[in-house]
Amino acid sequence: MLRLPSFRYLQPKTLRDALTMKTDAGPEGMYVSGGTDLYPNMKRRHQEPKTVISLMGIADLRRADDAVVGAALTLTELSDRPSARPPVLGHAAGLVSTPLLRNMGTLGGNLCLDTRCNYYNQSYEWRKSIDFCMKKDGHICWVAPSSPRCWAVNSSDIAPVMVAIGAEYRLVGPQGERLAPAGRFYHNDGINYLTKQPDEILVDVRLPAPDGWDAVYHKLRRRGSFDFPVLGVAAWVRWDGKNVGEARIVLGAVASHPQEVPEAGAALKDAPLSDDSIAAAAEAAYRPSKPMDNTDFDLSWRKQMTRVFVSRALNELRTRRSAGR
Ligand SMILES: Cc1cc2nc3c(=O)[nH]c(=O)nc-3n(C[C@H](O)[C@H](O)[C@H](O)COP(=O)(O)OP(=O)(O)OC[C@H]3O[C@@H](n4cnc5c(N)ncnc54)[C@H](O)[C@@H]3O)c2cc1C
Ligand code: SF4
Repeated sequence: MLRLPSFRYLQPKTLRDALTMKTDAGPEGMYVSGGTDLYPNMKRRHQEPKTVISLMGIADLRRADDAVVGAALTLTELSDRPSARPPVLGHAAGLVSTPLLRNMGTLGGNLCLDTRCNYYNQSYEWRKSIDFCMKKDGHICWVAPSSPRCWAVNSSDIAPVMVAIGAEYRLVGPQGERLAPAGRFYHNDGINYLTKQPDEILVDVRLPAPDGWDAVYHKLRRRGSFDFPVLGVAAWVRWDGKNVGEARIVLGAVASHPQEVPEAGAALKDAPLSDDSIAAAAEAAYRPSKPMDNTDFDLSWRKQMTRVFVSRALNELRTRRSAGR
């Protein structure tokens, strides 16, 4: 059994106290919300904070209304609110892992999730037996040995949705507050995967006003009741009468960041969603979709599934539009 190392656990009640505690702890301090990602990672010695600062007692992170969703809401709270807007958010939250993990895991933790790789999500001893890798404790990338960078995968189910709908993240740090567009919160780098500073807290997410847009999320994984995505497709359209005025297609779990494919969105613009435009967008998304051989399933099959899942997502949007939803 893997054991947690010993650490100091702090429970601030205000944002100000949390920031002060993090400043005092320095680089050896980390924030935690539900702990469903951080604690397993600590057991495998991926992250080794000496001080862990829980954000769950801070009321500012629990706000929930039509325009703002607090980072400390659990995934169960997000998925169980049938009236919650937008429905795509509750749907994506409900697809994350298992009910038990959704009861603990939060929106903030999901959006800040560590990147994943078959050579990294292993015990310390397993990693040591291959002399580690560049993401933690080593020097080489076992997925692409000549690569100067890490290709670990962003495996969040909700991040691609936030990028697709154009949400904004409110971050508070020692220097003050800032709003970051979801699309600029992620780096395509398996090690430096967030643009957030380590001491910044994700407080809440600002949702776009419901003015004529719709979005869906489709997820590919081995076990439907449990697993991380090996492909996620978030599709967003703004309707202009019967035509698509604007569209965004964002792929999850095929890169170190949620990957928007602008060519796929452009293929849908200024026309109704038709079989031809859906096929063109699916083809446009297929081309840059380059899954690496570091998660489940064969990577060429996962690439082919991009076409299928983009088509399914856009067909769902078309059906919802015809049904007046
Ligand atoms: C078996 C298993 C299956 C899983 N399946 C999925 C899946 O299918 N899809 C999926 O998306 N995820 C999955 N997860 C990952 C995880 O459970 C969820 O992503 C969950 O939402 C993480 O939230 P958390 O609050 O537990 O994060 P934590 O573990 O608390 O934190 C994760 C990271 O985010 C940082 N952090 C947390 N909150 C904040 C904040 N407000 N501000 C700044 N930094 C913050 C922490 O410092 C840490 O680095 C799975 C995990 C397990 C163990
Ligand atoms: S992609 Fe390479 S460097 Fe990154 S975690 Fe995997 S093996 Fe390590």
